[in-house]
Amino acid sequence: MTQIAEPGTGAAAQSSGGPGRISHWIDGRVAPGTAGRHGPVYNPATGVQSHAVDFASADEVDLAVAAAAAAFPAWRATSLAKRSEILFRIRALVDEHRREIAGLLTAQHGKTTVDALGEVARGLENIEFACGVPHLLKGGFSEQVSTGVDVFSIRQPLGVVAGITPFNFPAMVPMWMFANAIACGNTFVLKPSEKDPGASMLIAELLREAGLPNGVFNVVHGDKVAVDRILEHPVIQAVSFVGSTPIARYIYETGTRAGKRVQALGGAKNHMVVLPDADIGMAADAAVSAAYGSAGERCMAVAALVAVGTVADPLVAAIHERLPRIKVGDGSDPASEMGPLITRLHRDKVVSYLDSGREQGASVVVDGRDDPIYAADGFHLGVSLIDHVTAEMDCYKDEIFGPVLIVIRVDSYDEALKLINDNPYGNGTAIFTRDGGAARQFQFDVSAGMVGVNVPIPVPVAYYSFGGWKASLFGDLHMYGPDGINFYTRTKVVTERWPDPASSKVDLGFPRTR
Ligand code: NAD
Repeated sequence: MTQIAEPGTGAAAQSSGGPGRISHWIDGRVAPGTAGRHGPVYNPATGVQSHAVDFASADEVDLAVAAAAAAFPAWRATSLAKRSEILFRIRALVDEHRREIAGLLTAQHGKTTVDALGEVARGLENIEFACGVPHLLKGGFSEQVSTGVDVFSIRQPLGVVAGITPFNFPAMVPMWMFANAIACGNTFVLKPSEKDPGASMLIAELLREAGLPNGVFNVVHGDKVAVDRILEHPVIQAVSFVGSTPIARYIYETGTRAGKRVQALGGAKNHMVVLPDADIGMAADAAVSAAYGSAGERCMAVAALVAVGTVADPLVAAIHERLPRIKVGDGSDPASEMGPLITRLHRDKVVSYLDSGREQGASVVVDGRDDPIYAADGFHLGVSLIDHVTAEMDCYKDEIFGPVLIVIRVDSYDEALKLINDNPYGNGTAIFTRDGGAARQFQFDVSAGMVGVNVPIPVPVAYYSFGGWKASLFGDLHMYGPDGINFYTRTKVVTERWPDPASSKVDLGFPRTR
C-alpha cells in the first residue's frame, strides 16, 4: 500500500527531499493508491519531479463510484436551499484560497502566477453561477391544459457523473463541470490530468470544509485504465470530457456506446482574422497576448493569424517588434510573462513544427530556441513566429499547443472565411476590424462555436455556455452555463388531475384535451 499524501501541498517532497505522493480522494478523504502504478509530476520550470501521482486501477475507480452512488440518494434529497448554502461556502473558500490554488497551478503546470490567478477567477465564476441553482432548476407549469388537468415539468439529477480533464486548466475545467453537476444534485467522480493533479486535491479538501457530504465529490487519478473503467462503469450516467480531439472522439464513441450521456470537448486551431482597416497596434497586442499567454497551451489561444490584404506587412512587423520584450521564465517569478511548457516531450514536439515549417517553405521569423531560456533547466521555449504559412503545411494542419504563432496571408475576406470554415476544428475565432458590417457578416458566416469581435480569446462568461463546433466538440450540449444545467439534469413532465368523482367516466379513446 502506498503512503498517505499531504494532498497537493508538496510538503512531503520538501520534508523527505524526494518526490511527494498524490493519492486519490474517495468518500471525503485521501485514499492511498493500491494499484502499484504511478506517474511523475514535474515542476516544468525546473524539470525536477516534485510528486508521484497514484494511478487508479479499475477496482479503485469502482470504490470512488461506489462512494458517489452511496452519497447520491441523500444528496439529491438535500433541499435546494441547503445545496446553495454549501455552494456559497465553496465559493467563499475557493476565493479565500485562490493564491494557494494558483501556486499549485504554477508549480505543476508552469503558468505564471497572474495567469494562474486568472484561471482560478474564471473557474470561480462557474461556482458563482451554480450558487443560483434554485433559480436554474425551476421547471414549467401549465394550468388547466384540459378541464381539471395541470401539467408541470421538473428537472432531476442523473445520478453519478464523471469528469475527465486536461492538463492546461487543472482548476478551471474541473470547476466548469463539478459546480453545476453537484448543484443539480448529482454526485461526481473527477479524473484530472495526471500531469498536474495537485489542484484537484486542494479543491477536494475545500469542498469538504464547506460541508459537502462525503462521497459527493471524489477524485481518482490515473491514465487510460481509469478512464476506460469510467466509460464502461454501469453506474456512471454521464461523462464530461475536455482534452485533445482524438481522445474526445474516443470518449464520445465509447461512452455513448455504453449508454451514457457524453459531452467531449476537443482540440482547436483558432484563427484570428485581421482586416485591412483594423487598428494595427491593437491587433498586434491582441495577437501577441492571445498566442503566447500560458505558453500557447490554451484551447482558445490564437494559433493562426489570418492577415487580409495590405495589413500583413505592417502587422507582422508590429508583432515582431513586440516579441523581444516578452520575458520567459519560471512562472513563480513575478517578472515572467510566460512560463515553460508542460513536459520536455511536449516541448520537443512543439519545436518540431519550427523545423517542419521551415522545410515546407514557411519563414521562421523568430525561433524560440534562440531565446537563452531554451538552454536553461526546465521545459522552456521562447516565443516563435512563422510567416508565409499555407494550409498544406503541418504547422497549420496540426494543433501545436505551444508558443508558436503562424501567419497566413490571404487576399480577401472570402479567402479568410473559407480557410476557417474548411478547417476541421471550430472552437474559437476572432475578427479584428473597425467595420461593423464586416464583423456582423463574419459572425453570421463563420463555422466556430465562439466568436470574438476585436476580442481575441472569446471565452464565454459562466452564464453562457462554452463549446466549439466540428472536431472541437462531440455531443449536443456545450459546457457550463445553461447547457451545463441541461446536461446534468433530465426532465420529467407530470400530467395531473385531482379526483372529481362527479365527472369520472370510462373513455377508451386516446386522451384529448377538452
Ligand atoms: P489529452 O487528450 O491528452 O488528455 C485529456 C484527458 O484524457 C486526461 O485526463 C488524460 O489522462 C486522458 N487521456 C489521455 N490519453 C488517453 C487515452 N488514450 N485514453 C483515455 N484517456 C486518455 O489532453 P491534454 O494534453 O491533457 O490537454 C490538451 C488538449 O486539450 C489540447 O488539445 C487542447 O486544445 C484541449 N483542450 C480543449 C478545451 C476545450 O474546451 N475545447 C479546453 C482545454 C483543453
